Amino acid sequence: MQEEVTRSVAEGGTPTHRLGVLGWPVAHSRSPAMHNAALAAVGLADWRYQRLPVPPRLFEETTLALALALAGFLGANVTIPHKAAALAVADEAGEAAREIGAANTLTFAEEGSISAENTDGPGLVEALGDGARGRSALVLGAGGSARAAVWALQRAGASEVSVWNRTPERAEELARAFAARRVPAPEPADVLVNCTSVGLAEPAGRAPSGARLERSATEDCALNQLGMTFDQLGEYGYVVDLVYRPGSTPLLAAAAAHGARTVDGLEILVAQGALSFELWTGRPAPRELMLAAARALPS
Ligand code: NAP
Repeated sequence: MQEEVTRSVAEGGTPTHRLGVLGWPVAHSRSPAMHNAALAAVGLADWRYQRLPVPPRLFEETTLALALALAGFLGANVTIPHKAAALAVADEAGEAAREIGAANTLTFAEEGSISAENTDGPGLVEALGDGARGRSALVLGAGGSARAAVWALQRAGASEVSVWNRTPERAEELARAFAARRVPAPEPADVLVNCTSVGLAEPAGRAPSGARLERSATEDCALNQLGMTFDQLGEYGYVVDLVYRPGSTPLLAAAAAHGARTVDGLEILVAQGALSFELWTGRPAPRELMLAAARALPS
């Protein structure tokens, strides 16, 4: 029977269990490739993970409809701009979601109730390992992912967490919520976590093959938007960039040039995705395979 279902889904048949990612926009998401590879690898061939583009005004009613057993959905990831709304729509929420004030993972029970969890924060804790314990950390940004990052760094045992943001009022608000420290300009720290969207754009100055020729003005400009220069990047021994894009980001390229330990956005994506996968399926997530699937997508 399982073989029949496997064959039928592989041939384009109707899956019996559905998962997805709710976002607006969501076309860029690598989560479907990553999760579908993982589902197939653990033998859940009749499960399917899909993009769910939903504008903010339709988020609540769509999520409530998906939660009805009839739709076949067991859960969903939630991305920009719905993470706060996802927490609000849920009947219950886990500790990380409540403390961070946002959810990126929804699980639908048979009777239609919705539980919310945040795996962005715990995923970052997992990705950091022991790298932040007893060390000072600086978070760049004050949006949704910065909240999860401050929470994660505190959980991971950072000795002090500072926050810098382009709009200082938002950094102040975030720092106050987590008893962190707002800084008016980026300061040296052991660990640097970029939670801004700076670095998403493809920098100029690449050879057609993608081989790097030299540091470009666009890359320096990206660092400047973060209140930094190339030389200043040498002040951080461990640099995490949540942004993911083809090739390296200007921040990670500069950090690597200074010999820093680096973690890229796809590693963070996999860390949070693996925890969501385990919540839904109850099975260990094949993390290496998920990373390979996320990295394999064409640029
Ligand atoms: P968000 O809530 O929209 O916050 C965006 C942040 O970026 C704000 O702090 C904003 O500063 C700052 N920013 C935007 N443009 C800037 C510029 N030109 N110069 C300086 N600062 C700028 O977004 P988010 O959800 O936190 O996500 C931030 C980034 O992380 C996105 O690129 C997202 O794709 C990525 N992300 C990755 C993962 C992963 O799994 N790898 C997970 C979540 C997010 P202001 O407050 O001044 O506007």
